[in-house]
Amino acid sequence: MSAVNDSVLSDEELKIFKAIEKNDCVLLKTLLTDQKNVNIVDENSMTPLQHAAYKGNAEIVQMLLDQGANVNLCEHQHKYTALHFAGLSGNVDCCIYLLLAGAKSDVTNSVGRTPSQMAAFVGHHNCVATINNYVPKENVDIFTIATDGKDTELPAFIADSFHKFIMQVNIHPVKVVLNIHNYVGLGEHLPECKKVLELMCEKEMKKGAENNETMAFKFHYLSYVVGEIIKIKQKQTTNKTDDEKKLDITELFTRKILKPGRQGVLEFMEGFIKDCVREFPFRESNLFRQIVASLTGDNPAGALNVLSAAINGQRGFIDNASMCSTCGEEKAPKKCSKCKVVQYCDRNCQRLHWHWHKKACAKLAQNPEYLDKTTPDTNEISSELQNFLINSEK
Ligand SMILES: [Zn+2]
Ligand SMILES: [Zn+2]
Repeated sequence: MSAVNDSVLSDEELKIFKAIEKNDCVLLKTLLTDQKNVNIVDENSMTPLQHAAYKGNAEIVQMLLDQGANVNLCEHQHKYTALHFAGLSGNVDCCIYLLLAGAKSDVTNSVGRTPSQMAAFVGHHNCVATINNYVPKENVDIFTIATDGKDTELPAFIADSFHKFIMQVNIHPVKVVLNIHNYVGLGEHLPECKKVLELMCEKEMKKGAENNETMAFKFHYLSYVVGEIIKIKQKQTTNKTDDEKKLDITELFTRKILKPGRQGVLEFMEGFIKDCVREFPFRESNLFRQIVASLTGDNPAGALNVLSAAINGQRGFIDNASMCSTCGEEKAPKKCSKCKVVQYCDRNCQRLHWHWHKKACAKLAQNPEYLDKTTPDTNEISSELQNFLINSEK
């Protein structure tokens, strides 16, 4: 299918562009039943898909992809692809749908920028991380194929869950464990997941010039968290204290990881992440050395932030105040109704944190400033991260 660059658009085709401009999904759906070819371009040489991506309308993006929109079609005079536009829009779902449909992430526009670089340019760091963390589905599916009469490494029915799991951007350990719980089938196949993550880590480091240290490290990190859950599960079946019997794995893990130490620093979390780094098998890699240097130096940002910067790239500003106190998700919408200081994604995140938060809640209600003493200063974080990234570019 080729674009009709020089031909005049029909009335019906013009209506498609209008419906996208107005985010009118219902009208667009009717229009698309008659218009089979959506690989058309307007006077700016932009396709309907590029417009929808630029608007950040994920529903319309998916609708057009289902209708056969060519995800990499690019006639735009400055060579922006749909993924470039999605990165500019800041809509993470748009980026994911385009990537799943085969959008190329290494194409450059007329000023030599990739989609993730354009997203970074306008400060959409979640899009940057989403694009950089993307893994082609084939890289997972390969582990569901049996070779030489051996069993498959990964059961085929969990391949989709596993694929989504490894592409998640929020690497807070509690979030990782919540994901394991939420993605169908992972919780029942933890040893297989761990094994495949180890294999994927190794693969990323054995591609010669194309080694991807970042993804290798991420896979190692995820396998380490999965390993921890396996250990907790084993312990739970052998020595069941009454307290442990009542709690689910997520709750046991969250209590451990969020236990506040001196001045509110999460010491267990710090230790957990440092142990994970220490076990990274590719110690000669630049990324490993940089992470170790950042963790052993004066480190006001905390181990999780160092790791996050290493995996997801630099963040200009981190808004601690809107982060979920349990899982680190940004823009958490719910506030604790008692102290109105800490925030959560939902009731489940609040429930998981209550064991520790109940001790601080009353104090916070009287004096909201109390929280400031227990969380690192955002300016310190961003300068620490900048140092880290400057050093890692050397
Ligand atoms: Zn949360
Ligand atoms: Zn509270």
